[in-house]
Amino acid sequence: MYQLPKALPDELLLSRLIRFITISGISSSEFLQTCFGSKRISLHPFLTSGLSSIAKVCHESTNLLLNEQTLTPLFCFFLPVHARNLQKMIVTINGARAFRSSQLVSFESGHSLGLKSCPLCVEHDLLKYGISYWHVSHQVPGVDTCGYHGARLSFLKLTQRQRLIKWLLPQPEIDIRYSPLIEYEVAKFSTKLLSLLAARQHMNQITEVYRHYLKENGYLTPNGRVRRKAVMQEFFKYIENHSQTNPAMVPRTQQDYRYVSQLLEAGGSHHPYRHLLFGTWLLGDASQAFSNLPKADFSDKKNTPEPVNNISNKCLNLLKAGSSLAHTSRVTGKSRCYLKRIALLNGISLNLKPKTLTQQVTNAICSLAYSGFHRREIARRCGVGIGSVEQTISSHSGLVERRKQCHFQSARRKNRFVILKYLGSHPVSIRNDVKQQCNSAFYWLYLNDRAWLEEKLPIACKPKGRY
Ligand SMILES: [Zn+2]
Repeated sequence: MYQLPKALPDELLLSRLIRFITISGISSSEFLQTCFGSKRISLHPFLTSGLSSIAKVCHESTNLLLNEQTLTPLFCFFLPVHARNLQKMIVTINGARAFRSSQLVSFESGHSLGLKSCPLCVEHDLLKYGISYWHVSHQVPGVDTCGYHGARLSFLKLTQRQRLIKWLLPQPEIDIRYSPLIEYEVAKFSTKLLSLLAARQHMNQITEVYRHYLKENGYLTPNGRVRRKAVMQEFFKYIENHSQTNPAMVPRTQQDYRYVSQLLEAGGSHHPYRHLLFGTWLLGDASQAFSNLPKADFSDKKNTPEPVNNISNKCLNLLKAGSSLAHTSRVTGKSRCYLKRIALLNGISLNLKPKTLTQQVTNAICSLAYSGFHRREIARRCGVGIGSVEQTISSHSGLVERRKQCHFQSARRKNRFVILKYLGSHPVSIRNDVKQQCNSAFYWLYLNDRAWLEEKLPIACKPKGRY
């Protein structure tokens, strides 16, 4: 029966075991033989397996070791499909299978196994506890920054198969480098998430959490689809100073839409860092992942799209209640142009920031539009955008038809004039000359005003034949 040293805050199980064999005088092979019945057991640094045996020999709680002194909760949270299997392997002694369940091998980042430490934490721990130790939160794959200090973590590569080595504890360092802010944010998020995972029993599915907050931030359409372009644009801007370029963790380009889609697939297996990076951007604070989410958010709305009338009624109700265009657009998923149009059609005055579209301006637009002026000219004269002119025109009944009529007559006048001018200057021309020289006008009239064209064209010559 062994008595392990008391766990220090955020201490890794392997760190406690190393401290134990360092101070107790018991060799690692003796310890392993007692715990597992074999000296050849190799302990994984952050997914240490055989917890039930260690707990039994050392009078510890298996659950406590699992939840607080390994990274198992983090992997279970992000890989719910593999969670049960992973926990089982960690509790029993099956290191290799436990590591396979963590899926790290498939992310191509499990090649060099090692232990990470923060030089500032080492200094702090030596001063406060008289010994340095390995922190759980520093071992998260992909995270190379200390969540407490923002300093870059030192990496100690583990080359030996046996990791239970006397005095294998972090050493003080003078060279302290700091990571970019984004990486510090991810590290803070990750550290907090680990502490929350260790404490909480109830947790939400990570994909449900994403969907909820994407909806909150206006990144979901009313049909429940993700506005991936907008998401990637904002997300990519947020992570532009990130130093990592491993595509398993960081999106390659702003057009890497699969990065987001894959994270939202229930049961997907992705590098935990991907989730941490995306979660930092979307949630900001890890505690958001544990808030009580309304169940309604997760119903599959894709199969039951809202009827069009319901949506327009919803838009009208919101606009009548004084909601801004941006807010109404976020809630209903409809574009600002659509909202402006239905507001005009239903006589709702909009509270727009550039208040140029007053009743007076609308009247001026309609008057000019009625006279057949070009939209660009109307926009210039009234000092508004072409889009506003188009909306005003399309929302006044009969105006579009009148303008079409005006355009038709204008085109007819122009084309008739072209033909008449040519015939006037070429009195002896034949039909074919007119067709070739005034091609565009000829065909426009041929299609739209054939009677007039036939009347004005020279009399058709009789074909002479080839011989
Ligand atoms: Zn630190």
